[in-house]
Amino acid sequence: MSDKEISSHFIRTKIKKDLETGKYKTVETRFPPEPNGFLHIGHAKSICLNFGMADEFKGKCHLRMDDTNPVKEDLLFVEAIKKDVKWLGFDWKENLSFASDLYDFFYETAVNFIKKGKAYVCDLSFDQMREYRGTLTEPGKNSPYRDRTVEENLDLFEKMKKGEFEEGSKVLRLKIDMASPNLVMRDPAIYRIMKVPHYRTGDKWKVYPMYDFAQCLSDVKNGVTHSICTLEFENNRPLYDWILKESGIEAANGLPEQTEFARLNLSYTVLSKRKLIELVNKKIVEGWDDPRMPTIAGMRRRGIPPESIRNFCEKIGVAKKDSVVDAALFEHCVRDELNVNAKRRFCVLNPLKVVIENYEDDKEEIFDCLNHPGDESMGTRPVAFSKVIYIEKEDFLEDPPKKFFRLGPGREVRLRYAYIIKCVDYIKDENGEVTELRCTYDPLSRGGNAHDGRKIKGTIHWVSEKHGLDANVKIYDRLFNTENPGKGELEESLNPDSLKIIQNCKIEPSLKDAKPGERFQFERNGYFTADKDSDSDNRVFNLIITLRDQWEKISGKK
Ligand code: ATP
Ligand code: MG
Repeated sequence: MSDKEISSHFIRTKIKKDLETGKYKTVETRFPPEPNGFLHIGHAKSICLNFGMADEFKGKCHLRMDDTNPVKEDLLFVEAIKKDVKWLGFDWKENLSFASDLYDFFYETAVNFIKKGKAYVCDLSFDQMREYRGTLTEPGKNSPYRDRTVEENLDLFEKMKKGEFEEGSKVLRLKIDMASPNLVMRDPAIYRIMKVPHYRTGDKWKVYPMYDFAQCLSDVKNGVTHSICTLEFENNRPLYDWILKESGIEAANGLPEQTEFARLNLSYTVLSKRKLIELVNKKIVEGWDDPRMPTIAGMRRRGIPPESIRNFCEKIGVAKKDSVVDAALFEHCVRDELNVNAKRRFCVLNPLKVVIENYEDDKEEIFDCLNHPGDESMGTRPVAFSKVIYIEKEDFLEDPPKKFFRLGPGREVRLRYAYIIKCVDYIKDENGEVTELRCTYDPLSRGGNAHDGRKIKGTIHWVSEKHGLDANVKIYDRLFNTENPGKGELEESLNPDSLKIIQNCKIEPSLKDAKPGERFQFERNGYFTADKDSDSDNRVFNLIITLRDQWEKISGKK
């Protein structure tokens, strides 16, 4: 995509203005995932935006593990997140941090709020708190514990920390305004009791800060200027500002400011971590990196190039209003990238044996085949030819219609880069299935062109029996066949054909040592990569994407 095609967006405009007016002298952003699952394509949008803005304005972007809920967090997810961000092409340099490293700072800040009379320990139960909170149209009521003395609050909070109270029996709340029109500002809880060990701090803590409290304080501690988050936090912005202002914390870069943007929603896909966890736990998929998952790890294993994810994020832009992006747009970006950069190879998915009767028994020829017909700079690879080859079963019909430009009895076809062959006979098994073709080749058509000018319309791919290798190919399709699978039960939306395994395919010898992440176009069949589990005893290739959008036809959209 050229620079001209990239439209600017409101966050870029805001940052530019902030620098011009001197509101901020530098740009620091952050990407704050909670390490309770793998990252998905929605996170990629946030990563591209945060790291992208920092790069563009020569600032910094922090990768911060937002690990303040000990229940579901795990080191495994931390490592996966780091790997994924790197693979997407971004570098946090020395700016990796953990909210859990700031637990003492959060605690001290909370104690200071108590000392200033701006926080109190509240004994209302969860249900009572909700009742006291009021509604959008009615103001809330003050908690009966709101006027506890500073000393009492300090003592109780200390005891909460030591684990002297039961979970759910007390919380620490900010004293703001129970009549605020914004419900978020009605004395929000900032600490809760959780007697759960944390994957990094062990059982040191019995109280954990709430999201709203930890988020803004982590930002200011990191030196963040532009705290970019998704729209659901819009109502929390006044609280974000209130906590920072009332804490009195000095910020070298100035206090950070929160800006919200619309999260990515993608049709035929679920992007909620909760749903992705369900897919993994119910074993609907093989794991977080199942090639059908919208996770970064799944996409990497599938063979999707990171460039195409970045291009996609650039293309969809950044808006202030929620919308659903068509999955076809993502697939289009993947095809665009692969079309330019994937090397062409031959793979016969459903082999049909062809014996070329007039080709000498032991003769071998090597053809120099282009790695990319549109880009000669990508060079050639040698492909061996011999008397017995395989072609696709579907490239032969016993009784072909007129417009079928491939093989049929007495018909001719061009073998890509090799010769023109003619079908002179065919053999069937007891079930009536064609098992072998007998052909002759035209020795004067080396390279594939007829010397006498006769027109050969069809060109097919082939693999020499003697030289080719066996492989299994996994043909992936969309995991869901409804546009909004997140709406109901996941099982009801599953595409039963999302994975088909084709065994005993024939691949050309140059694919012998193909590595995961090397991407190929198997001519006429689609784009493929070697699976991470592939080895020389069992070669496995994943379909990255088909050559054309198969879904346009199915959904009748175009
Ligand atoms: P859940 O999927 O349960 O809502 P989450 O995706 O918000 O959880 P986090 O780890 O908190 O999980 O996300 C980290 C960051 O990624 C957040 O700043 C969030 O705003 C951003 N993010 C998450 N999902 C999307 C999305 N679909 N589009 C854009 N940004 C997203
Ligand atoms: Mg979140």
